[in-house]
Parts: sequence; structure tokens; C-alpha cells
Amino acid sequence: MSSACWNSCLYVYATMKTFPLHSFKLLVDENHNLKPCPICSSFYEENMGNIEEYFPIETNTNDIFERLFVLRETNRTMGNSPADSDILIFIEIMKHLQQAEGNMKIRDIHKSLKKSSFFKQWKKNNIEADYKLQAILETLGVCGILHTEKHTEPFYKYINLAVAPRSSHNSDWQYPVDFWKGKNGIDWIAFHHWFGEYEEIKNEIVLITRKEND
Ligand SMILES: [Zn+2]
Repeated sequence: MSSACWNSCLYVYATMKTFPLHSFKLLVDENHNLKPCPICSSFYEENMGNIEEYFPIETNTNDIFERLFVLRETNRTMGNSPADSDILIFIEIMKHLQQAEGNMKIRDIHKSLKKSSFFKQWKKNNIEADYKLQAILETLGVCGILHTEKHTEPFYKYINLAVAPRSSHNSDWQYPVDFWKGKNGIDWIAFHHWFGEYEEIKNEIVLITRKEND
């Protein structure tokens, strides 16, 4: 198991923060095929064992049964806390975001982070590095840390992520980080909500913010 599991687990946690309690409606179309739930776009999955067969645990998912699977597997296989090296990578990503120029898009951040030593290490270890880095940045989006003034979901209110808007029809980035630019900055309320208890992260990041404001 790798730090990517922490990421997919946090993704699930963050997307569930405003997820509405609702019961599954089994709807069928005119050809008697099952239709997805109108509220969360998930398909009813009677047998969780099916998911185990096909689902890569390190994937960010918006399907409710796959989310349940990610949480269950994370509980089953992971220790109590991320490794020191995970924390250092996270701090590096946050520093990078803090120093982003106003017109930089998330794709530009992704590109420039690929020059980091941790990314080169991932490549060496044969991890799907590009995808993994994108998944981390997307998770910061659903955590409410990276969003625009207009697109504040899912941290502040619910959105069905499966059908959320995109910045362009061929964008392959998840909502809301898809719309984020450097000028939108970091939402510190959301940051403290998720990471406030990690003293080592907080001290490091707060220090930079103070230096910049001096
Ligand atoms: Zn639903």
C-alpha cells in the first residue's frame, strides 16, 4: 500500500462531508435497464465483492459503493498515520501552491511539480506518477482548499460530482480544481478543517504565510 491510498481515502471523506442522506431509488429506463441514482449518479451494487474484482483502490471515485470500498480497505490495510515522507511531499505541494502566480492554472502547477525530486522518485518506483499527482491536486479541490469564488462545492455544499461542470468539454480534471487559478489562493478555513491537527504541516505552512505578509 502507498500514500496514494491515503489520498483516495481523503478524497472519499471530503466528498462525503456534504453528501445528502438519501435512499436508493431503483429506476429503470424504457428498455428495462437500471438507471443511476438521480442524486448521486451511482448504480446500485448488490454485491460489494464485485468491486474488489475490478476497482483499483488508489483511484479517486465518485461512485458511492466504490467509496465505501475505499474506506473499508483503508481501514483494513493502512496504519494509523501517514509516513514522514508523505508529510514532506505534502508540504512541498502546499508551498508550491502558495507561491503560484495569479494566472497559473492547476495544469501549470501539475507541470511544474513534475520537476520536484519526489515526482522523479515516483517515476523511478514505477508509480503512475502523473495520475497520482493529479489525484492529489483534485483531492485538495474536493477538500475545499483549492476552489474559486463561484465553485465552492463540495466543501461548502453538496454537488453531484459525477455531473459537475467542467472548465471545457475536454477537460480531464475533476471539479472544482479544474477551475482554480493561482489568484484564487488557498482556503485556510478548509485547510485547517482537514490538516489543523498536523502540527508539523501547520508550522511549516504558517511560517511561509507570515514571511510573505511581512
Ligand atoms: Zn444516490
